[in-house]
Amino acid sequence: MLSEFELIARYFSRAPRIGGPVILGVGDDCALLAPPAGELLAVSTDMLVEGRHFFAGADPEALGHKALAVNLSDLAAMGAQPLGFTLALALPAADASWLAAFSRGLLALADSHQIELIGGDTTRGPLNLCITVFGSVPATQALRRDGAHADDELWVSGTLGDARLALEALQGKLTLPAERLAVARPRLDRPQPRNTLGHALRGIATSAIDVSDGLLGDLGHLLERSMLGAIMDADALPYGDALALESPDRRREFALNGGDDYELCFTAPAQSRAAVLDAARQAGVAVTRIGQITRDAGVRVTDGSGAPLRVSSSSFDHFASP
Ligand code: ADP
Ligand code: MG
Repeated sequence: MLSEFELIARYFSRAPRIGGPVILGVGDDCALLAPPAGELLAVSTDMLVEGRHFFAGADPEALGHKALAVNLSDLAAMGAQPLGFTLALALPAADASWLAAFSRGLLALADSHQIELIGGDTTRGPLNLCITVFGSVPATQALRRDGAHADDELWVSGTLGDARLALEALQGKLTLPAERLAVARPRLDRPQPRNTLGHALRGIATSAIDVSDGLLGDLGHLLERSMLGAIMDADALPYGDALALESPDRRREFALNGGDDYELCFTAPAQSRAAVLDAARQAGVAVTRIGQITRDAGVRVTDGSGAPLRVSSSSFDHFASP
């Protein structure tokens, strides 16, 4: 059995990149970060609990990826540049092969986003992963939820709903041919946070949120903070490749209320349409215009002809009564 300190040294300690923002990484009482002069620190925490956010026995490499991906997605939604992250880990046992795979998935995503693991805490307990990310952003360019204006256009990146489709297939709530599950499953297990897009939208988008709990619910949070409403065309929603082959009702429901999408929902004035498309091209991510911000509160959803649809938001709430 590995000791706590052997475990940290073997799987979670690497020398910080020379010239990067990390002055001192794992191994001291605190890490030391040097954010770019004049920028604000952007900080966010997300926890993944076994049995709640992932199945017991989940692939540890995918888990390492996802634990960091969901946190990077919050930096993306703020337009913040990643600086570093900490990892608080409760483990039932120091299992070397589990740890090797977990740290491989975690650090591969960290490398691809140039963010370094700078510290953490390790204890024995039921499997629980908690990551805090640190990023930086110029004060005037942070993509806050409260920045939308009436008549701004409403956009979403990538595609929606495949993660929910994969989840329900794995839970046995619906049946999905194996080849379609193979398409949808990476969206659930290995979300790709939209950090390049978030950064490119600095100075263009007026507000943003990442879609983690379903588009309707997350858009609702943005609108509440901006004290505005929206009208949205359900037939304009970009469906995931696997979801696109499902029934119209399921497509609509999973695109509107899916969860685990980790796309960006954002607003920008109509005259910035070309700039938005240019930012998306630079980032290599598709973006779709799905509606418009209104002075009237609430979200009105229509079909492609403008006829109102009755939809309800079933955004996930950990403490909702069953
Ligand atoms: P402390 O006694 O200050 O709580 P620890 O003994 O818990 O410090 O940790 C020793 C060092 O290892 C610290 O720099 C801490 O940030 C780092 N560390 C602990 N657990 C992890 C982990 N899971 N991932 C990365 N660094 C970790
Ligand atoms: Mg400690």
